[in-house]
Amino acid sequence: MIVIGGGPAGYTAALYAARAGLSAVVLEKLAAGGQMAQTLQIDNYPGFDAGIDGLTLGEQMRKGAERFGARTISAQVDAVSLDGAVKSVRAGSEEILGRTVVIATGATHRALGLENESALVGRGVGYCAACDGMLYRNKTVAVIGGGNSAAADALLLSRICARVIVVHRRDQLRATKVYHEPLMRAENVEFRWNRVVEALVAGEDGRLAALKLRDVQTGEISIERVDGAFISIGRAPETKLFAGALELDGSGYIVADETTRTALPGVFAVGDVRTKPVRQIVTAVADGATAVHFAEEYLAAQGA
Ligand code: NAP
Repeated sequence: MIVIGGGPAGYTAALYAARAGLSAVVLEKLAAGGQMAQTLQIDNYPGFDAGIDGLTLGEQMRKGAERFGARTISAQVDAVSLDGAVKSVRAGSEEILGRTVVIATGATHRALGLENESALVGRGVGYCAACDGMLYRNKTVAVIGGGNSAAADALLLSRICARVIVVHRRDQLRATKVYHEPLMRAENVEFRWNRVVEALVAGEDGRLAALKLRDVQTGEISIERVDGAFISIGRAPETKLFAGALELDGSGYIVADETTRTALPGVFAVGDVRTKPVRQIVTAVADGATAVHFAEEYLAAQGA
């Protein structure tokens, strides 16, 4: 079994496969844990009464799978061939063959798409408050977005920064209720409702200095001076490699139901990369276990 991606879904598939006596290899380009590794505190993954940080949890998931013989290769996958009984995955000069492939590539942050956005990354613009929030101790930062990630980022930053300005394009948060009260109570969190970022204004030092905001109802333009801005407007699935080979939905997610089976026999999609209503660590690990169940069924039918 070739598992592409070493997040919670990928390492759970590897653990279940290895325990079922399959030969499992995980291809991971960065660190074990995937997106989860960027989360400082995880409180909604059961079994950790004081919560746990994502990097540690990712490492523990890797070690747990490797204890039963799963292997990890640190490599970026360049190409895949998913048809037929023997599938192949190419990473650099290496070609790995497998009877089953589990796609666990997850998703990455979405960008605003503003002209100088990529030039300002690391110079005031960031996508991971848990990673870079400490750089803005006692400073003023903005969080763009109104979902769970934006709300969690704003809360985290409110404990570090002097001021946190939440910029959201609607007049209320999309985030679940659990975030509302602490955010409204935090004295250093301000909201700019119905606003979108029209431009990122750089200072003479080449760093972000301010945001140019537009009120979506009145068209009014305002300037917000900030030291940093965290863009938290959702994620896009990592599915470029599979376009053409597999069916993707309108947002680019791999079409697969609760069995995690894709349209191609022996190919499974697990975790955030799959079409699903709830993208959480617990649902990702559930997918990993489910994929191995149906992979075993597939292999048995093949007589493998
Ligand atoms: P999300 O739920 O899709 O929210 C994205 C937010 O960004 C929305 O408020 C959206 O506005 C806004 N947005 C999107 N494009 C924008 C643009 N171009 N300009 C300005 N604003 C824009 O994404 P997410 O918060 O990253 O969460 C992703 C998934 O992870 C969700 O399923 C979420 O529940 C889950 N998650 C869960 C937790 C947890 O604790 N439980 C924590 C983090 C993430 P609109 O509201 O107007 O659409």
